[in-house]
Amino acid sequence: MYHSITSFFKDRSRFFYRLILFSLLSVCLFTLSSCIERRFIEATTQMDVRDEFWVRVLLFEGIKKCTVKSRSELYIIDAKARNPVASFSKAGPDVEISSSKYGFFVNNRKVSGSQLLVKTNSPYVFGINGVEYRGKLKLIHNADGSFDAINLVPLEPYLSGVVGAEMPDYWEASALETQAIAARTYCLYIKKRFGVNRRWDVKKTQASQAYHGIAAESARIQKAVDKTYGLVLVCRYGDGSEDVFPAYYSSVCGGHTENHQNVFGGESLEPLVGVKCRYCKYTARTPFYYWPMVQFDKKMVSEKILKKYPKLKNLGKVVKLAASKKSVHEDEYITRMTMVKVSGSTGKEGFLRGEDLRLTVDPSGYKIKSTICEIVDMGEKWAFISGRGFGHGVGMCQHGAQGMARRGKRTSEILMHYYPGSTIKSIY
Ligand SMILES: [Zn+2]
Repeated sequence: MYHSITSFFKDRSRFFYRLILFSLLSVCLFTLSSCIERRFIEATTQMDVRDEFWVRVLLFEGIKKCTVKSRSELYIIDAKARNPVASFSKAGPDVEISSSKYGFFVNNRKVSGSQLLVKTNSPYVFGINGVEYRGKLKLIHNADGSFDAINLVPLEPYLSGVVGAEMPDYWEASALETQAIAARTYCLYIKKRFGVNRRWDVKKTQASQAYHGIAAESARIQKAVDKTYGLVLVCRYGDGSEDVFPAYYSSVCGGHTENHQNVFGGESLEPLVGVKCRYCKYTARTPFYYWPMVQFDKKMVSEKILKKYPKLKNLGKVVKLAASKKSVHEDEYITRMTMVKVSGSTGKEGFLRGEDLRLTVDPSGYKIKSTICEIVDMGEKWAFISGRGFGHGVGMCQHGAQGMARRGKRTSEILMHYYPGSTIKSIY
């Protein structure tokens, strides 16, 4: 009996020991397999595409130092003279690039050239300060001794880093596809319109459109980009020409998208005049559809406004804020402040677009989430109340697109709803 009980416990403990060992082994194998999967990166496409389809993304501005690394060999080239100045073997340690008023230094060694090009071999992926991107890296020296870091990336791989940064990859496939087409259109417009006059086309932040490089990629995102390969939206301009337009989009419109001229100015464009949206209400989380009151100290608000808009210095101090122009959609109970009258202690007045005031007071855009709100004088503070929606509200409503996709709407139907009068075309 005693013997059998002992052997029972022995067997039991052996069984549990084996179970624990098996579990540990499974966890190790699972972790290893997911690491291997994550390490596998397909080669960057379009490395031979025409110049007009390369995107120059401003990653860092006015920095003095960065580290770069690569999955393959890494070459640093004097971009103007086209001379190699340094090269490093595959998967070597981080390379430090720094600058002073005398020029560039690679691992503390002075190198020639006011512009450096960092290139790699297939899969054409490099890391800068720990974040990986596709394509190449250009470093441009500034007169003050600092430098700007610009990612040169073909349009399609650029979009893989945008779509996943702008929308969760578990969203409906047709919503992800609308995002890819809108982002492709927006990028090409900005490149054509503004890129010619500067050394970069777009920023990596929401100032242009969010771009997170490799970190934003996934199989579903890649599928959305591939399925819409080369597709853009075009519309007819006042002179009769047909071209891409700034296909703006924002997170939650709050029930009606806004006319782009009230937010960004410029020539009237039919696809951006504003449409009703009955969809974001059911897909956005409550604090983003109806956002709670936020308050800001009046002194701080006044200082921020006068600092950002020197033309308003004659106001003395800002003593009153009042909406002077509104977009009213009565059937949706929406009133968006599009222009705000700013009154000063000197008796002078000035005007700011609602969106400009919002992002001056709250540059993050996460507190005053939209201009569908009212400003109330609370004595020492300004309160923004009755808030609705998240973002500038122009163009496609991203949560609305997801709402339409959930109801089975096709990619083209969603795009035609939010950009009426536009057509889909292929650029390649
Ligand atoms: Zn909406």
